[in-house]
Amino acid sequence: MPTVAVDRVRNMGIIAHIDAGKTTTTERFLYYAGKSHRIGEVHEGQAVMDFRPDERERGITISDAATTFYWNGHEINLIDTPGHVDFTAEVERALRVLDGAVVVFDAAEGVEPQSETVWHQADRYRVPRIAFVNKMDRVGADFDAAVESMRERLRATPLPIQLPWGQAESFAGIVDLVQWRLLTFDPASLGREILVHPVPAELEREARRRRELLIERLAELHDPLAERYVEEAPIGAGQIHEALRAVTLGHRGVPVLCGAALRNIGVQPLLDAVCAYLPSPREMPPVSGEDPRTGERVTRRPDPEAPFAALVFKIVATASADLFYLRVYSGRRRAGDRVHNARTGRDERLHRPLRMHADRGEPVETIEAGDIVAVTGLRAVTGDTLCDKDAPVLLEPIRFPDAVVSVAVEPRTVAERERMGEIFARLEREDPTLRVATDPETGQTILSGMGELHLEVTLQRAEREFGLKVRAGQPRVSYRETIGAPASGTAEYRRQIAGEWVAARAQVELEPLADRGARAVAVSALPADALPADLVDSVLETLRSAAEGGGVFGYPMTGVRIVLREASFEPCSQPEAALNAAASLAFREALRGCDALVLEPYGRLEVRVPEEFLGAVVKSLNQRRALVEETRFARGSVVVRGVAPIAEMFGYLTALRSQTQGRGGFSLEPLDYRPLPETLVAQQHVRLLD
Ligand code: GDP
Repeated sequence: MPTVAVDRVRNMGIIAHIDAGKTTTTERFLYYAGKSHRIGEVHEGQAVMDFRPDERERGITISDAATTFYWNGHEINLIDTPGHVDFTAEVERALRVLDGAVVVFDAAEGVEPQSETVWHQADRYRVPRIAFVNKMDRVGADFDAAVESMRERLRATPLPIQLPWGQAESFAGIVDLVQWRLLTFDPASLGREILVHPVPAELEREARRRRELLIERLAELHDPLAERYVEEAPIGAGQIHEALRAVTLGHRGVPVLCGAALRNIGVQPLLDAVCAYLPSPREMPPVSGEDPRTGERVTRRPDPEAPFAALVFKIVATASADLFYLRVYSGRRRAGDRVHNARTGRDERLHRPLRMHADRGEPVETIEAGDIVAVTGLRAVTGDTLCDKDAPVLLEPIRFPDAVVSVAVEPRTVAERERMGEIFARLEREDPTLRVATDPETGQTILSGMGELHLEVTLQRAEREFGLKVRAGQPRVSYRETIGAPASGTAEYRRQIAGEWVAARAQVELEPLADRGARAVAVSALPADALPADLVDSVLETLRSAAEGGGVFGYPMTGVRIVLREASFEPCSQPEAALNAAASLAFREALRGCDALVLEPYGRLEVRVPEEFLGAVVKSLNQRRALVEETRFARGSVVVRGVAPIAEMFGYLTALRSQTQGRGGFSLEPLDYRPLPETLVAQQHVRLLD
């Protein structure tokens, strides 16, 4: 049970482009909330939240650990989210379980591509947001430009509720447009002491104009305020707060604050805004799922008296045990109580639930709707639902994108092979975007994941946390294949099995789908009474898995619709086996000589370099088959956007660094699958069927 009333709980995350200042802001949160006694700078490798060695070294946050702290009588459960797009799935997972988010922007950069991606993910999960324009002390910091970029690039409705006092070197405080005051933060107390002043005379006109603008915008978005506005009734801080809260919860606008976390300016007002404008778990809409017994849709209200429902959203393998992070959506349980795993159908006991702080776990007696806790000893995987046995529910599973990059790994010594298997199995359990498989031909272990960096980080973890050193091969992308034109095939299957003749016939047609990356589908075009329904289902499943098993080049097929045109069998004891065999043969017949296309994964690319390097960078992008779509100049640097084949971008960071004297940066985010040029198909890929 939360230690405060549930309407004072905030389950929130900080989402941001890498380097925008998420870690620094989090550190300040914990420091001002009294959770850490000193401020650990990221560059000193002391961040409290980033507790894995690999994270400290890189200065980025990879896993989403949850931590609880208290602010102004509120309990804040902060779910950490990664900033790097190679970890998109981690962001998705965090968005599923949080109720609101603070989005951190860099005041000199405005909206960056990864913030765009995460913003749209958050739109999809309808997560209410507050924006924090950080690094106001940086040279080039521009609050208004950052706000404008939110409007332009995110199509958001930003509602600035502060005005910076000074900018860049002169940034010294914050004008609070709602409470009409200036706040400064005493450096001697590391910003802990907040000094309240009147709005400075030189800013008064501008601040008044902006306050008016804020009220006008809010009146357009919130009826009660509109009424007062029309009646020209006085509008005070209370009414503005109320309108901001309603508008934020209703996804109609985003309050925007500013500050410089590193300089300890503006952090506490951000925490106040989290409490004031983001929702409590009680204010969330009911979650929906399926009754596993009937398949019916059911919902669960965020009410401790409702039947229990919780989602296992994260598993962390620690040296002593696996920690299962739960988000409780409804109901209540005591430590030691039983819960039902709706996927496995097994009962589990909730041993020692823990509220997690950055450095330790604190045992709790009761868990209930709205809580985020960790437990040990479950037999569960990420995405499982724990519920009441008598009122079972399967919450929507968390979607994880397919792995697009893989690498072969070998242990240094034969003796280590077994241990390597165990360690990777453990990492796979923890990270649902990681796949571990054995190549049937070479016997090598193959790791697959979201990108080069994802696999690199995984191997470093294996080495640091488990002392496992492996030899890794070159990264490779996972290919797919599809067809460029319709094809059809007919086949007959006839065989004597145990003295009985079984025979069946099938005809299938393959059609390309507009979305080449879509999963293969199989449909029946048979007359309604041609075959019993369960036989049709069995044949369609056979066809779908045949496509996924591999096409002409042996790669999983996507973007194809398989139509079962004809299917018949001669009466026998095993019609299902005969029909499935005939359908598989007809499918292979259709593939023979069809227009097969090898597909390779593409990513959305953004490269940022100083202007003088533009020519060289574009040239090398062209050599890597990247398509440049847009070139934008901004304050001496240039941003090149486009798409690129992921296979060509391996090692690009090193190349870019040497081309730009270390001053270039880039991001690459998996996007879709596109046909590989024919010359490359001929050089690198073999048709297995002809
Ligand atoms: P994250 O990648 O989003 O977690 O970002 P970090 O918190 O690690 O910050 C990235 C870099 O920006 C670090 O070198 C920080 O010291 C620096 N930084 C963070 N906040 C500020 C700020 O308010 N002003 C300035 N000038 N630098 C900042």
